[in-house]
Amino acid sequence: MLRLLSRVSQLRPFSTLSLPSPEKNPSILYTGIFINNEWCTSQSGKTFPTVNPATGEVIANVQEGDAADIDIAVDAANTAFSFGSQWRKMDASYRGVLLNKLADLMEENHTYLASLETLDNGKPYSVAYGFDIPASIATLRYYAGWADKNHGKVIPMDGKFFAYTRHEPVGVCGQIIPWNFPILMMAWKLGPALATGNVIILKPAEQTPLTALFMAQLTKEAGFPNGVVNVVPGYGKTGAALVAHNDVHKIAFTGSTEVGKLIKAEAAKNGLKRTTLELGGKSPNIIFKDTDMNHAVETSHFGLFFNMGQCCCAGSRTFVEDDIYDEFVEKSAVRAKSRTVGNPFDASIEHGPQIDEEQMNKILSMIKSGKEQGAKLVQGGCRVGDKGYFVAPTVFADVKDDMTIAKEEIFGPVQQILKFSDLDEVIHRANKTDYGLAAAVFTKDIDKANYVVQGLRAGTVWVNTYNALASQTPFGGFKMSGHGREGGEYGLEAYTEVKTVIVKVNEKNS
Ligand code: ADP
Repeated sequence: MLRLLSRVSQLRPFSTLSLPSPEKNPSILYTGIFINNEWCTSQSGKTFPTVNPATGEVIANVQEGDAADIDIAVDAANTAFSFGSQWRKMDASYRGVLLNKLADLMEENHTYLASLETLDNGKPYSVAYGFDIPASIATLRYYAGWADKNHGKVIPMDGKFFAYTRHEPVGVCGQIIPWNFPILMMAWKLGPALATGNVIILKPAEQTPLTALFMAQLTKEAGFPNGVVNVVPGYGKTGAALVAHNDVHKIAFTGSTEVGKLIKAEAAKNGLKRTTLELGGKSPNIIFKDTDMNHAVETSHFGLFFNMGQCCCAGSRTFVEDDIYDEFVEKSAVRAKSRTVGNPFDASIEHGPQIDEEQMNKILSMIKSGKEQGAKLVQGGCRVGDKGYFVAPTVFADVKDDMTIAKEEIFGPVQQILKFSDLDEVIHRANKTDYGLAAAVFTKDIDKANYVVQGLRAGTVWVNTYNALASQTPFGGFKMSGHGREGGEYGLEAYTEVKTVIVKVNEKNS
């Protein structure tokens, strides 16, 4: 059933046939700091509120970690990682067993986790249940399989030596995650790090700490030893304390390019720690006139509006060939208008609120700038209701490359449709951005598709599809969209140090 729903989730609108009822008021079981497999309160005594974006009401107050709590978590993690510890001595295959056990526990709590994610994040329950949770489980199971397969090589070194490499864990990994896919980003970080034997201090986003805290408890129940997984909720400064700590060996960050730059600079100053950064985007989506129009309209709609436009890989610059431009715009506007907006717990809803008031206001000001700079608003363009942070699915036509809405990441439900007339021209324009996370091309001409794929400077290029992601394939950015890859075999590299071992071999009889 899980696999079925996961597939269904890629179709629009979401099927509600086999969707179990959500828990509309899921109990909030954990609001503390999780260190050494224990729940504790913050050293400062401070807490912070987490808010339901569909209503603006506080769900719970969560312990706010700061540098003092990070110090304690880093000590616990370093102890768990010390040479000879239970974790370090554990068979690699058993790390896989524990990851699978964690995935089992998520399956047992599937409805609860999806409900909690919807409550804290605002994403439709059908999406949380049908995509976020199963994709997270799939990620853990995928990396569980890698736990005893990430092996080194024997190298034919010159001279009388036996040379081989060992793939060893990096050590204490600080993982700082965003609010748009809270549990999935946690699974993307936990899976490869734990499979390769690292220890973790994870800081969830301040807007969405709740599923990460429940997951922390599940890691304990799954049997991960004390100190292997620690979760310290808090604001950006909690993340900054993690980056500044000299006994943290690596930072894996997903978030804004602005914060990514800070993290890279601070990580260099503090222990020259390794970083992997998955940052922003302004992804081009190129539609040629020989495409299947309805498929391209629907998939481009999904590529932008999925998760209320809060995707780093959102196809936020839709380039459409001039011959089909007007028809594409008209159909896109109709589709955006039909997108159902409302209570994310309602199974018929495709579109929930933005994450918070700040993001909503930022999106509304971007829409204003689009209108002021001469783009044609063909759908939406306003807030929906006055409770919660809902923004109407919005479509702009006649967008020019130099408009702010075509250059800056909006991270909201605002589709920009630009016109092009020449193949090389559109490749050039698509690449004229500091970002390079994702891109797509829609055409029936395989030669054209291959040519465009080669020309685009992006970490993922989709052909005749969008947002197709799975645990087996790497994901990450070119240019200012970051560096390093998550997912797939490539995702192991970020969590692995290569140790070269050279053994002198004596001559026979010598
Ligand atoms: P967004 O703009 O989408 O909220 P951010 O990049 O601000 O994204 O946040 C992503 C994550 O990074 C969150 O967990 C946030 O608390 C954390 N964060 C924000 N500022 C910093 C910082 N200076 N150092 C480390 N982590 C930070």
